[in-house]
Parts: sequence; C-alpha cells; structure tokens
Amino acid sequence: MQISPNSVVTLHYTVSTEDGTELDSSTGGEPLSALLGSRFLISGLEDALQGKSSGEKFEVTIEPEKAYGERLDHLVQAVPATMFDGMDVEPGMQFRATTDAGEQSVIVVEKTDDEVIIDGNHPLAGIALTFSVEVLDVREPTQEELTHGHVHGPGGCNH
Ligand SMILES: [Zn+2]
Repeated sequence: MQISPNSVVTLHYTVSTEDGTELDSSTGGEPLSALLGSRFLISGLEDALQGKSSGEKFEVTIEPEKAYGERLDHLVQAVPATMFDGMDVEPGMQFRATTDAGEQSVIVVEKTDDEVIIDGNHPLAGIALTFSVEVLDVREPTQEELTHGHVHGPGGCNH
C-alpha cells in the first residue's frame, strides 16, 4: 500500500547530521508509528514519505526550515543570575522555562557572576538532518485515530 497524506506509517529510522554524526535511531528498538498529517513528524519527513510503499528504504536530507526551523538569535538571552538563586547552574543544563514564546525548553550556554546566558532554540534548529528510513507498514487510519489525531495500538497511544 502506498503512503498518502493521512496514512498510518510504521517505520525504522536513523537520523544524522550532514557530517554523518548519528543523533537518534529506532533500529534495534521499537519502530516508530505515526499518523501523517497530525504534525507528529517534521514536515520534511512527511513530504518525503508521500508515495512510498511498505518495504521501501530511502534516504533524505531535510533543510532546517522543514525540520526544526532556523536558529533565532533573539531566543538567546542573558538573564540575571539572581533568577537562579540557590540553583547550581552549569553550561549544558536544560530546563523548562516560561518565555514570551510560551513554555519551552532552554539550555544554559554560559554563566558569569552576574548573568546566565540561555538559549531557547530547539537543539536541532539550524541543522539539516539526513534520515535513513525503512517503511515497515502502511495502513489507513481508523476514524477514531483521525478524530484523536494520533496512532492507537502498537507503537501508539493505548487508552
Ligand atoms: Zn487516542
């Protein structure tokens, strides 16, 4: 069966940066199941899956605009160190913060006596990603899955 815009797709994937550094892989673990059109997958991967069939393997490089977006300079901010009073703040630390853009994950990039520099960009923003994909299964979504906007059963939601 061929993948169409609302298919439920089960796949194995390995994602790497352009220089070949592996970031994540489902190989050796549970495959990923996704309802296409639900914005669960990055848009570049959804596009690349269209028209593929179960059993097919392919590789695709996705530019940041169709992956996790470009890096935005204004998401790098200096905040007073007093905001972290009593916390042991170290570069590389990640935490959830409420910002102008809503609740998001930020990472500490630098710390001085007075200031902490935090970066609210997605860690993969500005990076082109190469996906190596094996399509394991393609099926029509159930009406319930379409209503909920996610996959039910193996690899998906069990409720
Ligand atoms: Zn559900």
